[in-house]
Amino acid sequence: MEESIEGDDRYPTAFTVEDFRHNIAGVQARISAAARRVGRSPEDVTLLPVSKTVPTDRVRVAIQSGMRLLGENKVQEAVRKNGETADLDVSWSIIGHLQTNKARDVAAFATEFQALDRLRVAEALDRRLQAAGRSLDVFVQVNTSAEDSKFGMPPEELPAFLEAMPSYETLRVRGLMTLAILTPDDARVRECFSLLRTLRDQAREDAPDLIGAGELSMGMSGDYEIAVEEGATCVRVGQAIFGARALPDSYYWPEG
Ligand SMILES: *Cc1c(COP(=O)(O)O)cnc(C)c1O
Repeated sequence: MEESIEGDDRYPTAFTVEDFRHNIAGVQARISAAARRVGRSPEDVTLLPVSKTVPTDRVRVAIQSGMRLLGENKVQEAVRKNGETADLDVSWSIIGHLQTNKARDVAAFATEFQALDRLRVAEALDRRLQAAGRSLDVFVQVNTSAEDSKFGMPPEELPAFLEAMPSYETLRVRGLMTLAILTPDDARVRECFSLLRTLRDQAREDAPDLIGAGELSMGMSGDYEIAVEEGATCVRVGQAIFGARALPDSYYWPEG
């Protein structure tokens, strides 16, 4: 996958409601086509628009175009945008690595947390959620690429992690999440997604009560069609909807 630059041809920047509707329709059409190729129903795939780095004025336009749930990678940015869009009907999904000292912020406003990969974070979130009288949908993040630079637990730790989750009563496990390896080699990307599906299937077999609906959050702008072919129920798409980001992906996924 190439690094993108601001306003490149592949991911033109969306400014207007029409731009956003056009981009969303384009991504939805590709999701539908990918789903049909493997005999899946397109309705089984949710598109989560990722608004990280996008300035709030354009996020507001995106919300006005009909988006109701937005993904953000960094908690502070999500907190700020949540405040700046308080007059609009929108919810937030935190999709990036969380430090325990930010658990309180997430507990206060997020609808969903997709990057749960340590029990210490589960515990910190549960404590803050209890205090706030809230609950939170979570996805357990698995490192399917065996790269040190990615967050997420090693696959072999997943069963024990899921076993521990029922003690955190405010957290509702919806399924699993992963980031595929960043490479132009589609076969290696596909292996990551297929591994996550296998882990989900295994968990369903061994302990079906622990994995919720068994959702699979996988796929982003460069690889969501492969993810849908491999069973994604949620794809997290930023650049293909909002436009190219200036910063490389390594900025969002620093060394673990
Ligand atoms: C940024 C991000 C995405 C979306 O990436 P795009 O290339 O903008 O589609 C998906 N998942 C996570 C965890 C991200 O941080």
